[in-house]
Amino acid sequence: ERALLDVQDLRVSFGEGPRARPALDGVSFSVRPGKTLAIVGESGCGKSLTALSIMRLLPTPPARITGGRILFDRGDGPALDLASADRRTMRRLRGKDIAMIFQEPMTALDPVYPIGDQIGEVLVEHEGLSRKDALARAVELLRLVGVPSPEERARQYPHEFSGGMRQRAVIAIALACEPALLIADEPTTALDVTVQAQVLRLMRDIQQRFASSILFITHDMGVVGQMADEVVVMYLGQVVEEGPVSAVLSRPAHPYSQGLIASIPTLDMPRDRVLQPISGMVPPIGSITTGCRFRTRCPHAMEICRRDPPKVTTPAGNSASCWLVEEST
Ligand code: SF4
Ligand code: MG
Repeated sequence: ERALLDVQDLRVSFGEGPRARPALDGVSFSVRPGKTLAIVGESGCGKSLTALSIMRLLPTPPARITGGRILFDRGDGPALDLASADRRTMRRLRGKDIAMIFQEPMTALDPVYPIGDQIGEVLVEHEGLSRKDALARAVELLRLVGVPSPEERARQYPHEFSGGMRQRAVIAIALACEPALLIADEPTTALDVTVQAQVLRLMRDIQQRFASSILFITHDMGVVGQMADEVVVMYLGQVVEEGPVSAVLSRPAHPYSQGLIASIPTLDMPRDRVLQPISGMVPPIGSITTGCRFRTRCPHAMEICRRDPPKVTTPAGNSASCWLVEEST
């Protein structure tokens, strides 16, 4: 089956020459049409860098793509390699074919323009709509993402919106051109729990309605279970496990995935319990560049883990890179 987005052996480095540090180290995954793929991992594992590489919005310098391909294939022509596409091509794609939603909605909104104008702007630029038609469509989009009294709201400024309503407005901007791929980087992390659930529900509705593909980035395995069809687990710039969500959640093969799953809060959990099943912190990106990158925190680390682990596919259908997985199959 055709992949809408096929990331192959992506490499990103910080800095240049002998002092360059690898930040993404051979990342591969693909997003199929109409499906949601989640990238999960703690902060500092390279999730956002992966998203910014796809959008070609890496801070350059210091970061740059040093290898691999990012094939984007809408199915109506040859696939485009975003890793090497020129600025003009990327400008045309961004906001139209690929749209991104960030964690903090204010970064995507301009404080000095009414919300309706900001949504309409995308339609004027990419779809050639007149101001008047664009504004009418903006009101429709606000209604679609569940903003009440959209005609009035379209005339308001971002500071007049609550955090949850702002994120809905950002989602409206992202949806304006019906992009084939929506990249959402921790879209609900900055929101309180109730609003989080509402925005996640909205994103699921959108997926069904538009049949768009979503690349959903989160640190929360619980959210992965609610949102995604497939999941990629990243640790320190590498993919350590991937597979169908049902397989990875029920039978995680990599100790890091197991730790992330153990940290999903449950309703029956005592309130005062502190969730920290994975000991230690993510080391600085690029500080461990050989062997299993997780070995400094892994409860099962062995001598052999100083060597790069093989990728093993389990009977459940997930693939994990871990010496333990090979031994047990
Ligand atoms: Fe742990 Fe070794 Fe597996 Fe890495 S390869 S996750 S250190 S057991
Ligand atoms: Mg991030």
